[in-house]
Amino acid sequence: MDAAPNCAICNGPAYPECSCESERLQIAVKQAEHRAMEAKLAEIRDWVIAHARQHILNAFERLTSTRKQAHSAYLASLPNYSIYMQYSGHPPIHPGYIAQLQSQIAEAHAELKRGIDADWRASVLRYPEVLDYFYSLIELKIPSDRSPRVVEPPFAAAGYADRGYDHSRIGKESKKKKRRDREASVGYKDEQMIAVAGRSMRGPPAAPTPPILPGGYPRPPGMYPPY
Ligand SMILES: [Zn+2]
Repeated sequence: MDAAPNCAICNGPAYPECSCESERLQIAVKQAEHRAMEAKLAEIRDWVIAHARQHILNAFERLTSTRKQAHSAYLASLPNYSIYMQYSGHPPIHPGYIAQLQSQIAEAHAELKRGIDADWRASVLRYPEVLDYFYSLIELKIPSDRSPRVVEPPFAAAGYADRGYDHSRIGKESKKKKRRDREASVGYKDEQMIAVAGRSMRGPPAAPTPPILPGGYPRPPGMYPPY
C-alpha cells in the first residue's frame, strides 16, 4: 500500500505530483514574509537612510568648510580687499583698483560656487557605497536548530487535526481580496496551513489526534483565526 498522502488541495494522488501544494506554499511564504518582514525592512531602511544621509552631509560640510576657509583667505590676500570691506565697497581709492578687485572677488565667488557644487556632487555620488556600508552593519540572527523554540514551537504539539479544505472559499478570494489585504491576510490561514505542510516534509498520515484542549497550547496572538 502506498502511504504517501494525496494532495491536500485537490485530493489528487501523490504521484504524479500536482503543483497545488507548491503553488500554495509559495503564496503562503510570500504572505508570511510580508507580515513578518515589511515592518522590519521599513525600520532598517529608515535607519540606513538616516545614517547614510547624515554621513554624506557631514562629509560635505567638512569639504565645504575647508573650501570656504581657503576662499576667505584668498579674498583677504587680495590687494585693497581690507579697505574695500572697511568702506563697504566704496573705498577712497582709484576706481581702476576697485574694478579690478571687484572682478577678482566675482571670480573667486564663482570659483567657490563651482567648488561647492563639485563637493556636493562628489558626496552624493558616494551614496551607493555608503548605503552598502550601513546595510552591512545590520545583523541577521537565525536561531540555532537545537533551540527549544525551533524544535518545539508552542503550538500543535499533538499534530494538526484535519479541518478539510474549504473549496467554497476559492471563488470568494477575489471578492475578499481587498478586505484581506487590509487585514493583513487574517482569515486566509487554513489554506496556508495546509500549504506549508509541503509534501516532501510530510511523514506518514497522522493517526487520529486526540482533541486538543482549548488553551492547552498558548498560541502567539494573531497567528490563527478563531475556530
Ligand atoms: Zn493538487
